[in-house]
Amino acid sequence: MSTFDVTKSIGLETIEHRESRLLAPYAVHSADSRGRQYHEPNHPYRGPFQRDRDRIIHTAAYRRLSAKTQVFTGEMGDYHRTRLTHTHEVASIARTIARALRLNEDLVEALALLHDIGHPPFGHSGEDVLDECLEGEGRFSHNDQALRIVELLEIRYHDFTGLNLSHETLDGQRFRTEKTSEKFRPSLEAQAVDAADSIAYDSHDADDALELGLLCLDDLHSVRLWREAVGHVRSEMAALDESSLRRAVVHQLIDWQVSDLLHDSSERLAEFAFSNANEARLSDPVIRQSSGLVEMKTELEQFLFRHVYRHPGVVADRDLAQAALREIFAVYHRREGLLPKSYRSRIGSAGLRRTICDYLTGMTDRFAWREHRRLCDPDEV
Ligand code: MG
Repeated sequence: MSTFDVTKSIGLETIEHRESRLLAPYAVHSADSRGRQYHEPNHPYRGPFQRDRDRIIHTAAYRRLSAKTQVFTGEMGDYHRTRLTHTHEVASIARTIARALRLNEDLVEALALLHDIGHPPFGHSGEDVLDECLEGEGRFSHNDQALRIVELLEIRYHDFTGLNLSHETLDGQRFRTEKTSEKFRPSLEAQAVDAADSIAYDSHDADDALELGLLCLDDLHSVRLWREAVGHVRSEMAALDESSLRRAVVHQLIDWQVSDLLHDSSERLAEFAFSNANEARLSDPVIRQSSGLVEMKTELEQFLFRHVYRHPGVVADRDLAQAALREIFAVYHRREGLLPKSYRSRIGSAGLRRTICDYLTGMTDRFAWREHRRLCDPDEV
């Protein structure tokens, strides 16, 4: 039985009809999609953004996020977030926002699952090394790299490179590459994912740092956002041990930030009364938190920067990882014949340094360490 026959036989509602019932006029509707670079017929029961989400999930780059550092490396423990679990947490928060504001949940989910897919091993420390390795030839950013992966590097189809994602999904990621430029105006769905990313990492980096013993609860008492969240939890649940209090505070932090965002964004949406997604996209940012909360979040971020991201244990790990990545890059740069054949064939069009960066980006932390031992210290293998 063909997919078309299945749709008819079980009487499925069309995507267009379903979205017209559930989504607001300012949401991106599948029926208005500008399509894909290479034309493909519509799927009978999966919308274009559902298909984008599924294509992203089935990439090697997505699976490898499970063994890539978010902030803390695997050697530090087994409680904290990896790049993959962070991605899921962003998707979960972003979908909550999308559903409450009647945005396109499929597009939001695709964008959330895509947003960090371009991260190299070792988190932002790895990104800094690759940027340094490309000096004089261009820049390296994980946001741009996500686009290279889904437009060029993943080979899943006969007729074209990349995933042939919808223009709306690619545009949402493009906005992340140049947030301050007027060039890429984000859909409300892209704004929701950006907000969810920052809500997730602020709350979870604090939680992970506490579990790993890099901070204690008293340290965070100087941060107003944290202090007020503790006050709220204590007013509802008086006697909590330390770890129960921590979990309740992290939950409260996320709930508070999402609620504030929904409240403020709903007021703007009511005021602007957009009649379609394009009007919303061209307006000033809509999906954002109140200025009071943004101020408190900034204070928490500054605290995390000083006390967590610059913690001696984190910095020591970062220095070792950065040195290893530089050494791997140098070996491939001297002996390009050591690169896998599929990458060597790209040197002519992309250049040697960019090709090495593409290869290194695809590595998990684990694979990068193994390559380092193999290439730079063969006696250790
Ligand atoms: Mg992220």
